[in-house]
Amino acid sequence: MAFKIFNTLSRKKEVFKPLKEGEVGMYICGPTVYDYPHIGNYRAYVFGDLLNRYLQYTGYKVKFIQNLTDVDDKTIRNSQEKKIPLDKYTEKYIYAFFEDLEVLKILKADVYPRATEHIKEMAAMVRILLDKGFAYEGKDGCVYFSISKFKDYGKLAHLDLAQLKEGASGRVLSDEYDKESARDFALWKAWTPDDGDVFWETEVGKGRPGWHMECSAMSMKYLGETFDIHGGGVDLIFPHHQNEIAQAEGATGRKFVNYWVHNEWLLVEGQKMSKSLGNFYTLRDIIDKGYHPMAIRYLLMGTHYRQQLNFTFTGLEAARNSLQRVWDFMKKLDEANGAGDSGLVDKAIKKAKQDFDSALDDDLEISRALAAVFEFIKEINIAMGSVSKEDAGRIKDFMLEIDNVLGFVAVKEENISAGIQNLVDEREAARKARDFKKADEIRDKLKEQGIVLEDTPQGVRWKRA
Ligand code: AMP
Ligand code: ZN
Repeated sequence: MAFKIFNTLSRKKEVFKPLKEGEVGMYICGPTVYDYPHIGNYRAYVFGDLLNRYLQYTGYKVKFIQNLTDVDDKTIRNSQEKKIPLDKYTEKYIYAFFEDLEVLKILKADVYPRATEHIKEMAAMVRILLDKGFAYEGKDGCVYFSISKFKDYGKLAHLDLAQLKEGASGRVLSDEYDKESARDFALWKAWTPDDGDVFWETEVGKGRPGWHMECSAMSMKYLGETFDIHGGGVDLIFPHHQNEIAQAEGATGRKFVNYWVHNEWLLVEGQKMSKSLGNFYTLRDIIDKGYHPMAIRYLLMGTHYRQQLNFTFTGLEAARNSLQRVWDFMKKLDEANGAGDSGLVDKAIKKAKQDFDSALDDDLEISRALAAVFEFIKEINIAMGSVSKEDAGRIKDFMLEIDNVLGFVAVKEENISAGIQNLVDEREAARKARDFKKADEIRDKLKEQGIVLEDTPQGVRWKRA
């Protein structure tokens, strides 16, 4: 079966055909590094990871690019509030982002281009848009994209351009706005004293790029004028991706991207998890509550990417239990020593692989794929007594093969959060200082997080309850 993916451009599932046989160019919009990402952001990156991993699993060579937005309205505002130079300010969050990717077992992109290192390319593109008449300079010295000059404006977001023209008077300078405010948007922002020392002297003046310009310029630099897949969360459809299309296609006269893919929201009590609503958890928050990072990966990945997913701790518990079943299964396989029933094992592997692949071929239907895995585990568990060492090896090989997509099967339990280790160390220090009250309090706190401590001659050991 061929891989099908839902294309936001056509609002249909389409058979995926890359530009170059066997190769895929993919760009998933990366973080704006003004703060720690929350787990809603990671839903977007875990979705990108599932897509990347599945494409590789089916034999494609994927060139994956993810930008780091290290200059925009938010990064400038926050670095100034903290009185820290922009690059120093963003560095901390870039580092945290990379750390989180590793913890969540998200495969690394080939390049993580930083906006501040591609200003020349952005200014050059603004220059082209000015020369071609798609852009104009406003009285404020900023360069704006004239949406009425680009006939397909609104196509991705399914906006009616005729209606837009009537409503769209004036222009918008800020990077973020909604559909109701669709109008000419800033490609290049002329320096104002509010920007402090954040500016570049370029062929289009002294200033900085608009956020949308950053992604158009960086994606094309690494993937070419036309490439296969571009994605992010649904909030990016408008204005961000719509504007990226206008800029790129205006400048090159060619189709920018063939498949636009977008993940739905991670919600909290029915509302989008977001910094501005204050209803968010960072990865660290959850790990410090004692959850294994793979439970978060499982939770974020386990619901189809185009369905909204309500975050609850009950859901996280369920994810943890499902994971435990997989890990227990892998352990049992190590001990298998039955007489052997290769026919049954062969049949089970074949069916599981078929069901797993055909589910993911169908627009990454992960729930069906996981159901196939658990059905397989159930069947083998029932027959475990007669599974031979050799068959167990083949079963493990199969589990590890699909783990190239899932990423949570082969995991070391030592993957423990710094938060828990800090508490364990703190309790040790309290005990040494004979502050037993404090030591007991910490033990109770850890217990609440599902961690039990054992005092051994070698020191304190911890394990999950
Ligand atoms: P930002 O750093 O704000 O540009 O966001 C990074 C990525 O996270 C984008 O692809 C957003 O669409 C995505 N995102 C932000 N909030 C959520 C959420 N609550 N659920 C799913 N994706 C989100
Ligand atoms: Zn982007």
